[in-house]
Amino acid sequence: MLKKSWIQIEASSDFSIYNIPFGVFELKNGKARCASAIGDLIIDLHEMQLLGFFDHLDLPDDVFNQRYLNPFIQLGKKITNRVRNRLIDLLDENNTALRQKKEWHQRVFIPMDEVTMLMPLDVPNYTDFYSSMYHAENVGKMFRDPDHALLPNWKHLPVAYHGRASSIIVSGVNIHRPKGQIKPSDAGPVFGESKKLDIEIEMAFVTNRNTAMGEAIPVEKAQEHIFGLMVFNDWSARDIQKWEYVPLGPFLGKNFASSVSPWIVTLEALEPFKVPLSPQQPAVLPYLEEKERFSYDIHLDAFIEHEKFNAFKITSTNYKYMYWTMAQQLAHHTVNGCNIEVGDLYASGTISGPEPDAYGSLLELSWGGKHDIDMPDGSKRTFLEDGDTVIIKGYSEHKGIRVGFGEVRTSILPAK
Ligand code: CA
Repeated sequence: MLKKSWIQIEASSDFSIYNIPFGVFELKNGKARCASAIGDLIIDLHEMQLLGFFDHLDLPDDVFNQRYLNPFIQLGKKITNRVRNRLIDLLDENNTALRQKKEWHQRVFIPMDEVTMLMPLDVPNYTDFYSSMYHAENVGKMFRDPDHALLPNWKHLPVAYHGRASSIIVSGVNIHRPKGQIKPSDAGPVFGESKKLDIEIEMAFVTNRNTAMGEAIPVEKAQEHIFGLMVFNDWSARDIQKWEYVPLGPFLGKNFASSVSPWIVTLEALEPFKVPLSPQQPAVLPYLEEKERFSYDIHLDAFIEHEKFNAFKITSTNYKYMYWTMAQQLAHHTVNGCNIEVGDLYASGTISGPEPDAYGSLLELSWGGKHDIDMPDGSKRTFLEDGDTVIIKGYSEHKGIRVGFGEVRTSILPAK
């Protein structure tokens, strides 16, 4: 029997009673509060706590009366799951504790379209992996050797680089086209606007504790330290990136912005959508070996919207197309004793499927700018134009249960 809520929820809603994600919204007085969501409503968690609904859950006072979710996330899964489960109970159609307190509903519930969602995390560190094999192969084929698309290390370790935390922004915050050094010909570099502005469709996970330097998180314990996932759009200026990245890797072609969806969906909410992954060949070193290998079936759709046309889907990919799992990524990240922090973001790397209609970047969809992508108004894209709005939506659906992430929406403004 499926659970039902006494709150009216559309079947297509990302925020079913099975989800109960966490985010932060702005109050009318400019202050911020932590929230959850159900259907079209935001749940003000601070008001819930003041009304006594979280008594006996071992929560510190004011843990939701905060600008960021970090203090809540840091309480650890035992407590954060208690809060989520309590909300699920209170919203269940058979529970009257909140349902009958109609006079409190205005304090607790706010229509989603009346609030602005804020960046929910104070992100201390951001790491970008490169863990989808189809994506790594596509890039290898385009830029190196089609017969040896993957570099020799790729199947032995989850390749990554350290990104920039300061420029991670939430859905709704727009970006200016970046400028930088570009080398369009053999004649030498020029300074100018990026002409190859691209998206990368990714998921990012959030860690829930600070570890000590020297401490490694074993692969089988990694899930305990992951609070949840967000949809992640890792902006890329391909022309800047191409000229600068040798020999030390991504820098100004990447660090001008990365965008996240406002809601963090917990691993517990994603449990019904686990999908097994096949064994890795060649076998990995023991510290990366997993008893159970799985990813999650999360559909990811990307759209371009423009004043001349409505949101137009350019690709659909899925988080199940991962070669390296989150557990392996975290185990590898810490195996040398690197400490992690509460609110760190670890992005998957661009997620591409095996077929061209499931590629996770314009670089791949246009195959290095060689193929045009037709837009509904007759215009064409290889990379993004000023005035384009990119929307990425993520959701899971299985046996009548739907759990979604909402969307990450960003418009491209002209260069400053
Ligand atoms: Ca990336």
